[in-house]
Amino acid sequence: MKRLSLLGATGSIGQSVAKLLADAPGLFRVEAVAGGRDVAALAETARALGARFAALADPAGSKALAEALSGSGIESGAGPSAVMEAARREADVVVSAIVGVAGLAPTVAAFGAGRRVALANKECLVAAGTFFMAEAARTGTEILPVDSEHNAIFQALSAGPAKDVETITLTASGGPFRRKSREEIARATVQDALKHPNWSMGAKITIDSATLMNKGLELIEAQHLFGLPADRFEAIVHPESVVHGLVSFVDGSVVAGLAVPDMCVPIAHCLGFPERIGTSCRRLDLVALGSLTFEAPDEVRFPALALARSAMVAGGAVATVLNAANEVAVAAFLEGRIGLYGITDAVAATLDRINGGPAPASVEEALELDAQARRATAAVLPKFAAKAS
Ligand code: NAD
Ligand code: MG
Repeated sequence: MKRLSLLGATGSIGQSVAKLLADAPGLFRVEAVAGGRDVAALAETARALGARFAALADPAGSKALAEALSGSGIESGAGPSAVMEAARREADVVVSAIVGVAGLAPTVAAFGAGRRVALANKECLVAAGTFFMAEAARTGTEILPVDSEHNAIFQALSAGPAKDVETITLTASGGPFRRKSREEIARATVQDALKHPNWSMGAKITIDSATLMNKGLELIEAQHLFGLPADRFEAIVHPESVVHGLVSFVDGSVVAGLAVPDMCVPIAHCLGFPERIGTSCRRLDLVALGSLTFEAPDEVRFPALALARSAMVAGGAVATVLNAANEVAVAAFLEGRIGLYGITDAVAATLDRINGGPAPASVEEALELDAQARRATAAVLPKFAAKAS
């Protein structure tokens, strides 16, 4: 049995992992689960998975978690140090599915020789990718990409040697505003933006998908995971979300990864790796689909993509600032304080104020710059408040 820990257990990815584990009895023993603030959901997941330890990030929930787990024999802890403990506990696979840069320190704490980290959290690569990948290599940790595009590319890359890869392509659904005008997008409500056409996900990534910032973050994520120069990566719009990623080789061969748009599939790949596990994930029916379509992304209506791409090309700490600004701006949008374009405006204004410096060389450096960028974004947000719908 593989030992597994699940960070971000109460979220969208966390619950998909929990469902897969329930479908595959006898394959995994769950060491630890960690969540943010939802005591009842964490306790329920810990019990359902038979975890040995449950950690809640919110220190105020300490007593409530212990009570919710009483009689189960599951140990519990609360506060950031408990989440770090959950990450460090002995495990073969650690699933990193905390949202945002909050996942960086626990994910790095999970590194260790012979360990596999199934990485859903993309913000840690955007904020500190150079350090993150170097630290994974130094500690002998294998990173398996859970993000569907990166998972498809990871699988496609096994078709040829790395030196013969020409380009790597990520697909984007285009989000709920793919066919909307700039004016309509500017007036979009929180509810409109939360209605993703193909995927059911947490709120932050759903908003990132509506602005296409998600695809920008994913280009940066891909660059760190796969280590090619920035100009070898591209993003194309594919509304059906069936082809997730493509690798083109120097002989003209293109190897693509296809699956239904359900995180069940890439998660199962990471859990089973290097083998495969049988699942009840939905199956792809191409005849029922009939056709697959592709188009170029529109960076005028979706400026976040261009902004993230320039951060990728600039390198250094620019992406750290971009990520922090985006997290603050998305939270402000979700609270109704700014409009959808206010997100990109606030990110651009933050990047004007702080233009990076060298790439962070540690978790501490990344978090320090992250905090500085968050303060700068908070300071520019009122300028864009008038644009809220
Ligand atoms: P979510 O909001 O549904 O869940 C986030 C989880 O993180 C929750 O369990 C929450 O309690 C926990 N959390 C938040 N702050 C925490 C903290 N400080 N300490 C410990 N736990 C904390 O988000 P999600 O959609 O599941 O996404 C998780 C990550 O996976 C994100 O980085 C996202 O970009 C990435 N991702 C998600 C999907 C998807 O389909 N949902 C796909 C690809 C990548
Ligand atoms: Mg993705």
